[in-house]
Amino acid sequence: MLLSQKIKIEVSQQDAEALEFMQAKCRGLYNWLVMKLRNGERWNLERTKKSLRESKQYDPELRFVYGKLLAEVYFRLDKAMQGFFRRVQAGETPGFPRFKPRHQFFTLCYPAMYLQVQNQTIILPTGGGGNWGPKRYKNIVAHLTEQPPQGFREVAVSRDARGHYYCSFVYDDSEEHHDHESQARPLRDEGIVAFDLGIKALAEGVTDQGRFYYIGGFKGSRYYNKQLDKIRSKRDTCKKKSRRYIHLSNVYKRVAEKKRRKQQDCLHKASHFIAGTLAERAVVIGDLSQRQMVIKKKEDETPKERRKRHIRNRMVYNDWGLYSFVQMLTYKCLRFGKELHIIDERNTTKMCHVCKRKQDMPLWKRTYRCESCGLVMDRDENSAVNIYERFLARLGPHASTV
Ligand SMILES: [Zn+2]
Repeated sequence: MLLSQKIKIEVSQQDAEALEFMQAKCRGLYNWLVMKLRNGERWNLERTKKSLRESKQYDPELRFVYGKLLAEVYFRLDKAMQGFFRRVQAGETPGFPRFKPRHQFFTLCYPAMYLQVQNQTIILPTGGGGNWGPKRYKNIVAHLTEQPPQGFREVAVSRDARGHYYCSFVYDDSEEHHDHESQARPLRDEGIVAFDLGIKALAEGVTDQGRFYYIGGFKGSRYYNKQLDKIRSKRDTCKKKSRRYIHLSNVYKRVAEKKRRKQQDCLHKASHFIAGTLAERAVVIGDLSQRQMVIKKKEDETPKERRKRHIRNRMVYNDWGLYSFVQMLTYKCLRFGKELHIIDERNTTKMCHVCKRKQDMPLWKRTYRCESCGLVMDRDENSAVNIYERFLARLGPHASTV
C-alpha cells in the first residue's frame, strides 16, 4: 500500500524565497480557476490544461515556476471537482472547492521522475532554463534531515505554521522488505476485539476472550488550551502588527504546534497498539458518522448552556481527533494484515448488554446501572460489549467493511 514519510528539510534563504514564490504562483493559478468555476464556468480538465499557455502570456512570471508543479495544480483542482460531483450525486453536503488562503502554504507536488536524491540532498527544480528561457531562481538544493524511503513516487513540499519546510515522500511499502513495522506478531485468526470510541476515553475494548482494554488518549489539551487562551488574550490587547503582537503570535503558533504534535503522537501510539500489538485479527469499531457529537446553537440559550456548547465543540473539533484516529487505524490494520470492521453503533451506549433494555445515558453518567437486571458496569465497557455482540450476530445493518 502507499505510505508517506514526512521529512524536514533545510534550505538556504534564497531557496526558501524560490519555494515561496512558486507556491504563491501556484495558489494564484488555483484560485483564479476556482473563481472562474464559481462564476459558472464548466469544468473540463483537458481544456483547462491547455489554457496554461494563455495564462503564461497573461502572467509571464509563471515561467519561473517549474512546469510540473503548475500541471499538478490542474490535477489538484480536478480531484476537488470530482469529489464535489460525487458528493452532489450522493446527496451529501456538496462542498464546492474553496479559495486557498494567502497565509497557508500551497503544497507543491513533484513527480519522482524529475527529482534527484543523493546523500540526503534533494534537488527541487524551478522554472525556466535551456529552451524555456532565463531562470529567475536556481534549482533548490535542500538538505533532508532523514534518509528518504527507497523507490518513492512523488514528493510534496509543505511548510508548517512556524516556517519550517518539509518533503513528504509517497512510497509503496510492498517494494521494501525490511521494515520493523511489518514484522507481524503472532495473530489469533479467530480473535476479535471490539472498541467503543469516545470522548472521555479514546477507546475501550473487549476481546472474544473477555479481556478489557482501556486506551486513555491525550490528556493534556486542557493544559495547553489554558496556555493558548492566555497568550491569545494577551496578544489581543496589543496593537496589531506591533513587535509584541508578532512575538506573541509566534509563541502561540509554537505552543499550538506542540499540542498538535503530542496529540498526533498519542493517536499514533494508540492505533499502533490496536493494529500492531494486539493479537486479535478482527478489529471492530462503531461507525462515527452516525454520531451527533457537536451541540447546535439554540435560540434561547442560557449562559451555562453556551459555555457547555463552547467547551464541547472545541473538544470535538480541535482536541478529540477521533476521525484521524480512525484513519490511522484503517491504514495500520491494512499494514498488519488485520480486518477492520466498521459497524452500526446505534444504541450501543444506551443498551444493557445483558437484558437489552435501553435507558438514556447522558455523557456525565460514567457507570451503566441497569434497573431491570442490576448490571453495574463502566459505560464504555458496556458499549464495547454491545459492539462486540452486534458484530457477532450482525444484528444491525452492516455499515461497511474496510
Ligand atoms: Zn440489564
